[in-house]
Amino acid sequence: MNSDSRHSVRGTAIAARRWLMGGRVQGVGYRAFVFNLAQRYRLSGVVQNLTGEVLVEAQGEPGVLDAFADALISAAPPLARPHVVSCLPIPLRELNSFEILPSAVSLHAQVHVPPDNFLCDDCRREMLDPGDRRYRYPFINCTQCGPRYTLITRMPYDRPNTTMADFPLCPACRAEYEDPHNRRFHAQPLACPVCGPQLSFVAAHEYSSGDTALADCIAALRRGETVAVKGIGGYHLMCDALNTAAIARLRDSKHRPHKPLAVMFPWQGAGGLQRVRDELLLDAATEAALCDKSRPIVLIPKRADSALPDAIAPGLREIGAMLPYSPLHHLLLEYFGSPLVATSGNVSGEPVLTDNAEAEARLGKVAQSFLHHNRPIARPADDSVLRVIAGKLRLLRAGRGIAPLEFDLPFTLPQPLLAVGGHMKNAIALAWNNRAVLSPHIGDLDAPRSLEIFEQVIADLQQLYGVKAQSIVCDAHPGYASSRWAAKQGLPLYRVQHHHAHASALAFEASLDSSNFNSKVRQGGNEQVTQTVQTARQGAREEANAVSLKKWSWLIFTWDGVGLGEDDTLWGGEALLGRPGKWKRVASFKPFRLPGGERAGREPWRSAAALCWESGLAWKSNARDALLLKSAWQHGLNAPVTTAVGRLFDAASSLLGLCDTASYEGQGPMLLEAVAQGEIEAIDLPLHEDESNLLVADWTPLSHALRRDEVPVAQRAMQFHLSLAQTIVRQAQHIHAHMPFDAVGLTGGVFQNKLLAELALQQLAAAGFETYLPQQAPCNDGGLALGQLIETNCRNG
Ligand SMILES: [Zn+2]
Ligand SMILES: [Zn+2]
Repeated sequence: MNSDSRHSVRGTAIAARRWLMGGRVQGVGYRAFVFNLAQRYRLSGVVQNLTGEVLVEAQGEPGVLDAFADALISAAPPLARPHVVSCLPIPLRELNSFEILPSAVSLHAQVHVPPDNFLCDDCRREMLDPGDRRYRYPFINCTQCGPRYTLITRMPYDRPNTTMADFPLCPACRAEYEDPHNRRFHAQPLACPVCGPQLSFVAAHEYSSGDTALADCIAALRRGETVAVKGIGGYHLMCDALNTAAIARLRDSKHRPHKPLAVMFPWQGAGGLQRVRDELLLDAATEAALCDKSRPIVLIPKRADSALPDAIAPGLREIGAMLPYSPLHHLLLEYFGSPLVATSGNVSGEPVLTDNAEAEARLGKVAQSFLHHNRPIARPADDSVLRVIAGKLRLLRAGRGIAPLEFDLPFTLPQPLLAVGGHMKNAIALAWNNRAVLSPHIGDLDAPRSLEIFEQVIADLQQLYGVKAQSIVCDAHPGYASSRWAAKQGLPLYRVQHHHAHASALAFEASLDSSNFNSKVRQGGNEQVTQTVQTARQGAREEANAVSLKKWSWLIFTWDGVGLGEDDTLWGGEALLGRPGKWKRVASFKPFRLPGGERAGREPWRSAAALCWESGLAWKSNARDALLLKSAWQHGLNAPVTTAVGRLFDAASSLLGLCDTASYEGQGPMLLEAVAQGEIEAIDLPLHEDESNLLVADWTPLSHALRRDEVPVAQRAMQFHLSLAQTIVRQAQHIHAHMPFDAVGLTGGVFQNKLLAELALQQLAAAGFETYLPQQAPCNDGGLALGQLIETNCRNG
């Protein structure tokens, strides 16, 4: 330790230290926490927000400083994720107190944009306390809760840089805002009924505001109407989840006959889950997921005696359930007292609507009334979706509460890189230095509004994080709207094959798990040693991740709908061997021609017809259209070649009479999974190596088995799943015998299928393989952008 930083005052040595704290330390009440901590330890010094980091200086006895340093991490507020960037001894100064200095702009921004937070227990208690000045106020929040990502317009995160800029604080709120002992110290979205946002209710011949608006909304819901309710990241369409006629009207007017609708449950009983338990089969994993601070939609099996009508998720066994997360949702559900359908207020496939006037214009035919508020939403964030597969939570859609989703990279990028993702379920990602950020789910890029939001999120993420992309990576498919946009930007452009991106996203995520280093670094008495240890540990962790990313060899099954392959056919049933930057296609399925090309994605019967024709079986329809189609197919007209397992699932769903034409993406496969049941043997699909040593599985026996009408549908569906899981294991074993690898990965949209994924994981483990299925980023195209970043860097590096 530097001797001049140590003085002797009345025989006690005192020292001074400076910490730079990184990680998620802004928008989470960290400065006030440091201030109060310093007071408790009777230390003098300062705390200051830099751009994205927090500077702490404190002086006192070394032993006390050690304890203080420890608490900076271990006692941090729940939403904070601090780490020590650096810790140094500094000269002692004349200081009598601990002060909070005004924010300063630092040169090297390390911004962390916080996601939106659910209503904390303290605020909830106040909201329900008739004596509190925020009693029943739907916009109550504090440093530990409230919107962030959807409200921040610029960094640093200060009130003028949020959509609360136009709400001047009343004296009572200002006093709380300025008092470091108050739990609302510098809570940027701070508001109360006097100075903050208000509700308004709008129907054809009705207008009300404040408490009356809430009451009018409840009355409309009780009448069975659909109300568009403005929340945190956009509008929901809400109606009574127990009212079959109301649900039918909502489905009818939204032209959404079958797509499963999410349900928001009242927070009731001890732990808040009683009402959920009445309807759904909770276990420890789904319960934890529901109560997660991101308050996501969780797919949970319905009880046999559930009162929820089948119309909520026709033909499916699971319900997308969530708990109220904003104060407004808490109030709504509390007063309504029973579950509400809460589906995204959008036009099919587009991002959720956020603007009051636009919502009225575009949802006017679906909703009979609107519950608005006047706190603007800076950018949309749909609800996040999670599913428990093989006992672990898997993110299927990153949205409100989770995104922007930040990752540390095990390498340093030479310059900022933007990844624009795929076409369906689009999300984008931005990477710079050793950081990557995945945006919330944007949607399908077919509609103009989707493209608009896509461009806005790209601009916003760069602006918020203070990063300007110097190159772009897109999917190899030149027809994707994201690829076309990328090609027009005048920046160096990389193209990454769809399944290479899927595989690299998985390999990257798995490399994060491979390290067991504790991120909480304990501070010792000797600053120099501490810093060295910390740097060494962090270095070792990055190195371990880099090693596993570069050295591990993988066999990754990338099964999905379709993605443009290296040979210009449509892939989607491949296994790739290697590691990021070096993938080799080693296994696949027997290719078949898809009659009608893209239309086959929405019309599973086309895949079914193709499988029958390829197998020499008659197709069930001999209508003129079918005969014309067959002739076109025979001549290869508009019938691209594919190996996609997603299309095999489609075919199976049609052959079993479950779904000929899909009204939402993935309908056929989801129905097939839901119906599968019973004891039946798997079918060994023939495997052979083609002329280029590709191990090809032949699905022909499946098309015969699916047509065996004497076997119950449930069993045939089960046999289909079992046979595909077994194919994974047999392909893995065959390849491992010639070309050993370290682990097997499963990714691509097909593995959102819990039954298939669990069967495959079990059987792979039984065969002695290490396995990995994505958890942190979606295995569907929502995680594609992350993989594009990794693949590009590993290829170039
Ligand atoms: Zn709160
Ligand atoms: Zn106020």
